[in-house]
Amino acid sequence: MNTEEGMKINIVQNVLAYNKEHAKVNRDLFKENRVYVVNLLSSPGAGKTSLIIETIKKLKDRYSIGVIEGDIASTHDAEKIRRYTSQVVQINTGGSCHLNASMINKAIEKLNLAKIDLLFIENVGNLICPVGFDLGEDSMAVISSVSEGDDKPVKYPKVFIKSDLILLNKIDMLGLADFNKDFFTGKIRELNTRAEVFELSCIKGTGLSDWTDWISAAADNK
Ligand code: MG
Ligand code: ZN
Repeated sequence: MNTEEGMKINIVQNVLAYNKEHAKVNRDLFKENRVYVVNLLSSPGAGKTSLIIETIKKLKDRYSIGVIEGDIASTHDAEKIRRYTSQVVQINTGGSCHLNASMINKAIEKLNLAKIDLLFIENVGNLICPVGFDLGEDSMAVISSVSEGDDKPVKYPKVFIKSDLILLNKIDMLGLADFNKDFFTGKIRELNTRAEVFELSCIKGTGLSDWTDWISAAADNK
C-alpha cells in the first residue's frame, strides 16, 4: 500500500468512527425518551414523504410523531409534513448526498423527544451512501416503487441487504410499468431473508395497515 492509499483509508476510518460516536449518543437519547426511530431510504421520487404523511394520518391519534427531513436543498418536504405534525425539522445537507449521525444530533435539539413516540428520518434520496451511515435508528427501511422498475435490488444490493424493512410502493401501477414482481421479490429474498416486506400504494391506501401495524407494534415494544 502506498502512502496516499494509506491516508485515504485512514480518512474513511476516521469519518466512520466519528459517525459511530454520534450514532451512539442519538441511540441513547432515543432509548431514554422511548422514541422508536425509522431511517427511510429510497431513490428520489419513490414516495418517502407520501409514506410519512399517510402514516401520520393513520397513527396520529395513537402516537405523537416527529419527522426529520433530509434534503440537499429546500424546505419543500418539511412544509408539506408540517400540515400533519408540528414536530418537524428540515436538514439541508448543502450538497452532501446522505445524512450523518452528527446532523441528526443537531436536529433533535429542535425536537421535544420526550413528547415523541415515533420518529421518521427521511434520508436524502439516494440508494448508495446513506446505507453506510448509522444514525442511531431502530430500523432502516428502504422504499422501492413500481414506476422505478424491478432492477433496484440488482443494481443497489447493499441497501436491500442492510434494511430491516423493504417497502414496495405504487403497487397500483403494476401492469402499467415495466415491473416483474416475481423477479423483484425473488431478488430481494436472495439478498435478505430476515426483512419484513410490505407491498403498498400510498395513493390508493392499499397495504398501508400492514405497515402501520408493524410500526405500531415496534413502537409499543420500545
Ligand atoms: Mg421527500
Ligand atoms: Zn453521500
